[in-house]
Amino acid sequence: MCAQSLKMKEEFGIDALPILAKSDVVIIGAGPAGSSAAAAAAAGGVSVLMLDKKEQIGLPVQCAEYVPLSLAEEVPIPVACIAQRVEGFITYIQREQVAQTRAPGYILNRDVFDPYLAERAVQSGVKLLTRAQAVAVTNLGVLINNQGELSMVKAGIIIGSEGPKSVVAQAIRCPPQHLAYAKQITVKLRKRSQWAQIYFSPSIPGGYAWLFPKNDLANVGVSIDLSLGGSVATALTEFQQYLVEEGVIGEEVIRTTGGAIPIGGPRLRMQQKNLMLIGDAAGHTHPISGEGIFPAIVAGKIAGSLAAESIRSGDLNVLTRYSEDYLKRFGEFIKRGFEKKIEYNDNWEKANFSVLVRRTWFAFPEYFES
Ligand SMILES: Cc1cc2nc3c(=O)[nH]c(=O)nc-3n(C[C@H](O)[C@H](O)[C@H](O)COP(=O)(O)OP(=O)(O)OC[C@H]3O[C@@H](n4cnc5c(N)ncnc54)[C@H](O)[C@@H]3O)c2cc1C
Repeated sequence: MCAQSLKMKEEFGIDALPILAKSDVVIIGAGPAGSSAAAAAAAGGVSVLMLDKKEQIGLPVQCAEYVPLSLAEEVPIPVACIAQRVEGFITYIQREQVAQTRAPGYILNRDVFDPYLAERAVQSGVKLLTRAQAVAVTNLGVLINNQGELSMVKAGIIIGSEGPKSVVAQAIRCPPQHLAYAKQITVKLRKRSQWAQIYFSPSIPGGYAWLFPKNDLANVGVSIDLSLGGSVATALTEFQQYLVEEGVIGEEVIRTTGGAIPIGGPRLRMQQKNLMLIGDAAGHTHPISGEGIFPAIVAGKIAGSLAAESIRSGDLNVLTRYSEDYLKRFGEFIKRGFEKKIEYNDNWEKANFSVLVRRTWFAFPEYFES
């Protein structure tokens, strides 16, 4: 028995705990990554249980809700999940417009999209257990807290898709992730638009401010790499005031949200024995843009299919293909993003700010130079 299992046994008296369920594959977290993995594993003919600590999947929304149009090639996106289409983004450096970049995409209704993905998994045979928080993980199973009741779920393979505070990552002994912190408000947009706006400023170190139009509303936010300094709350207040003064948005704040965004690139260990990590839990967000829905869904599909194949064949070695398959798909894209993030952090406060942004933001040709 491994040290983690022994620790769990001692701390929680596991032998005395009821076994709530047994499943070939257990997935922790029913976000885009988890639901995609669950659907792919169930399609591979194995039993799948997906746990989420939330009562209602997808709520509260902690996202600016932009995805590239190409996501529809990975998963069908029903019309109800789409708030509007955008054509791309306009980049501003210190409030001066410097580029307009075509990057067609959708602004999703994630409060509809995430439940839809979970329901799609359930329709493929996945059992979904909500209000079930994974507290600890070993190779044998997951200790869950279901509304105050502790119990065990036994699993052949466990996939962690529970975001940056992943209990599966802890079981694999992954170091903490490098995170940016974001705060976002939803406000009224004075004039509908098909272009997102991205603002860079020295008061937003290692991040940017955004406005993503959502019909008559807009998601307006700021994310900062706090290891470089700054204050997310102050930067957002200043940005909001500026947009109000410019007549772009109304004063009323309809919703406030936020969260942590992994910006350190994929974890070096995304799989160990029968434990796997996908989505934010694996650091799949782009280190510069923080975009994470698309890679979460693709990684989920890869991991779910391999998990099913591994269970069917009784061969855990199948899972060692996961990192390789993921990197085959995203390697170059993520590698450049990670290198640019390092370049940004190394030169922060040393280089001319405008030159630094141009070298590290993909609206500019300099981003693609080595
Ligand atoms: C403010 C903000 C704006 C963003 N904007 C964009 C954007 O415009 N476009 C984009 O592509 N990405 C964006 N992102 C990133 C994107 O939201 C994530 O990359 C994406 O949601 C990752 O999906 P996931 O399934 O890995 O994790 P999540 O969507 O975070 O899902 C994790 C799930 O796990 C559950 N969970 C957590 N811990 C436990 C536990 N212990 N036990 C059981 N369940 C648990 C949670 O309840 C949740 O349902 C943004 C992030 C933030 C914070």
